Amino acid sequence: MKKKIAIVGAGLAGLSAASLLAKNGHDVTVFEKNAAPGGRMNRLVTEEGFKFDTGPTLLLMLSSLRKLFKKLDKNIEDYMELKLLEPSYRVFYADGTEFNSSTNIAMMTNEIREKLNGDADIESYLKFFSYLSRLYRLTIPNFVDRNYRRLSDFINPKSLYYLATLKMLGSLYGRVSNYFRDERLKMLFSFQTMYLGISPFEAPSVYGVVTYMESGEGIYFPVGGMYKIVESIQEIAVEYGVKFRYNSEVTKIEKDGDHASSLVINHSERETFDVYLVNADLPYAYETLLDETPKKNAVPNSGELKSSSSAYMMYLGTDKQYKHLLHHNVVFSGDYKLNLDDIFKRQILPEDPAFYVCIPNRSDASLAPEGGDSIYVLVPVPHKTPNIDWNRDELAFRERILNRMSDRLGMTDIRDHIVYEKTFTPDAWANEYNLWKGSAFGLSHSFFQSAYFRPQNKSKTLNNVYFAGASTVPGNGIPMVIISGSLAAERIEEDLR
Ligand SMILES: Cc1cc2nc3c(=O)[nH]c(=O)nc-3n(C[C@H](O)[C@H](O)[C@H](O)COP(=O)(O)OP(=O)(O)OC[C@H]3O[C@@H](n4cnc5c(N)ncnc54)[C@H](O)[C@@H]3O)c2cc1C
Repeated sequence: MKKKIAIVGAGLAGLSAASLLAKNGHDVTVFEKNAAPGGRMNRLVTEEGFKFDTGPTLLLMLSSLRKLFKKLDKNIEDYMELKLLEPSYRVFYADGTEFNSSTNIAMMTNEIREKLNGDADIESYLKFFSYLSRLYRLTIPNFVDRNYRRLSDFINPKSLYYLATLKMLGSLYGRVSNYFRDERLKMLFSFQTMYLGISPFEAPSVYGVVTYMESGEGIYFPVGGMYKIVESIQEIAVEYGVKFRYNSEVTKIEKDGDHASSLVINHSERETFDVYLVNADLPYAYETLLDETPKKNAVPNSGELKSSSSAYMMYLGTDKQYKHLLHHNVVFSGDYKLNLDDIFKRQILPEDPAFYVCIPNRSDASLAPEGGDSIYVLVPVPHKTPNIDWNRDELAFRERILNRMSDRLGMTDIRDHIVYEKTFTPDAWANEYNLWKGSAFGLSHSFFQSAYFRPQNKSKTLNNVYFAGASTVPGNGIPMVIISGSLAAERIEEDLR
């Protein structure tokens, strides 16, 4: 039966769900607080001609995007040109080693031998890679790309067998350490959990699937920028009849007994729907829109939900090109664990921060003015905490990052060449996108916040309220939120049958 469906938020999960539901014939309206779609997957175009994707820059697990396009009866190549980046990225270690990470096994073994004197670790790399590929192949269909309705969907003989044989539960760093001797390789194959905003010392080793997405399948880039993905899905959604209402913040979801009855928009207007799908960050939505306390699923008295880390961003336009940097560059701290503990345990601004630099015009020259670079800098930092007052601390932290870019990346004259600059703090993530505690990557991915235990995509108290996005199942990142949108749409269809 065709229904009138409201979607709160035009992030990637909201757009995916909207297009799928509209294709099935439903009457779908998306309410977005900001002036354009995409949420965290936003873009910034300056007068000088610098073009930045402001959030995600790494397109991993392309199969997820391909699957969405297939479900929408579309051919992805008609919408964007996808480039596989090779090498994937350049890593800068504190001892001066520069390592090119690649999906190409021959290149990787060469790099390990030549840069890390690691003949012994080459064997380990091949074994680890084989473990990762099995982990990935079994985890995605069995634990990620599926809805959970009851505990037995998660705890059953098959899943217990996988949990045990794939050793999914120790920390990823611990798992990687069982394979490698060189600390630099332990860092190289475990830091990817930071894409989920969780320390590799705390992330269950099942999140080695992210390491596999990167080192096994590779990093893709849509020519024109990551925002092409948003524009394409939004275009398809419109074609299937989705209505978009921008600058329309939902300020309340009103309830009537066991169901939601209407939305209040911008504190004034009220509209009624049959089904409500919330793409706004789940814990924020529970607290602010539904007046409920967000909880883990099926873990009684388990304390407050934990958030992921956040990101301090610098978008720099320079009138010079730093050609020794690739499209993606990772700079490790001199002390891997100390840096992570500063972020996750002590919750302070790291003294010697690790950071990531993206220069997209290396792959598509149209993304910066001639002779210049569009330089995106992401520094992992704690989510909002009383320990950090960004109004007070930002200037000094910015200086620290520019100093590190100078020392560690040889960008000694960077200050003289910045002609455009914008920064973005955890406070801004909270204000701009309603992200709970200013966490850039949603709820954390600890074991008791993963799979069945993660807040699920249907309300337990309201029978017509659903969720999609980084803080519900399966989790954070472009591939995951696309799956999240699809899972929510599937669940709505199943319940309507
Ligand atoms: C700095 C950064 C870098 C990242 N890098 C990568 C990467 O390289 N690769 C990768 O795969 N992933 C990356 N991610 C993660 C990825 O961006 C997210 O997982 C994904 O974009 C989240 O999509 P979403 O639909 O869950 O939520 P969102 O993007 O947060 O969308 C939710 C939408 O809801 C809107 N909204 C909120 N409240 C309301 C309301 N009350 N009424 C109406 N609208 C509302 C918001 O404005 C927003 O548009 C990165 C994230 C960040 C922040």
